[in-house]
Amino acid sequence: MNLIILGAPGSGKGTQAEKIAESFNLAHISGGQSLRKEVESGTRRGELIGHIMEKGNLVPFDEISTVIEPELIAHKGGFILDGSPRDLVQAEYLEKFFRENDIIVDLVIYLTVPEEKLINRLLERAKVENREDDNLETITERFRVFHQETEPVINFYKQKTKLIKINGDRSIEEIAAELSNIIGQII
Ligand code: AMP
Repeated sequence: MNLIILGAPGSGKGTQAEKIAESFNLAHISGGQSLRKEVESGTRRGELIGHIMEKGNLVPFDEISTVIEPELIAHKGGFILDGSPRDLVQAEYLEKFFRENDIIVDLVIYLTVPEEKLINRLLERAKVENREDDNLETITERFRVFHQETEPVINFYKQKTKLIKINGDRSIEEIAAELSNIIGQII
């Protein structure tokens, strides 16, 4: 089973992806996480990526695709892709990549949370996780990018009728239970 999970910044997609991966024995593939590792490693490439992330902008997809593609192939049939595609160009690119590699995406999960709640969540996360991109200026830009670039991706998948919208404004456990239930029905 192959899944994609999308949602605005702070919607909890990473948390839920981790839980789903554990429950259903799937590989959790996250472009954002790989990028953060690269930034932490302190390489020149990491430094450049870090500057883009700090501003809240999208990193060139090449930086992500080179990391996630081998993982997607290695775990073909058993992955949850977290936080990609982020725009229509990436969505089209991944469709082609999936087709060429006989990968079928069974379900796209879209976690929705009212924006004012997300801002508070992200500011809270900033205190706990110390993520460079969780400050008000960057958060504002990440939301602008989300509306402009990522929301059209939701419509892209809606037209392909493999998208479910999940209310992400609940406890982690409640959301996880609903998702487990839904995913349990498609395996
Ligand atoms: P995330 O952990 O998914 O919230 O991603 C954190 C940051 O990583 C984003 O704000 C982007 O700067 C970058 N990022 C993650 N995934 C992508 C992607 N598919 N395309 C471009 N940038 C990405």
